[in-house]
Amino acid sequence: MAYVITDACIKDFVCAAECATAAIMPAAADDPKAGGLSQLFINPDECIDCGNCVSLCAQSAIFSIDDLPADMAHFAEKNKAYFN
Ligand code: SF4
Repeated sequence: MAYVITDACIKDFVCAAECATAAIMPAAADDPKAGGLSQLFINPDECIDCGNCVSLCAQSAIFSIDDLPADMAHFAEKNKAYFN
């Protein structure tokens, strides 16, 4: 299991700054990769399923993969694909 960021993300980087395993990328606004992206992503291989990022997200953009609404299911692959 892992957590997944969806397109409600506004890239405020609050979650990335607090993730204990640095699973959320890009991690900061000054990362050169951040400018061209519409959202942040969670690395499923680094996420330890602590759930802390969910409560930190003011946009409610982050879900446990098990709780992803059906119309957002594709974001699981989109998050994973960012790291491939
Ligand atoms: S659930 Fe925990 S480990 Fe996974 S991305 Fe969120 S803060 Fe990081």
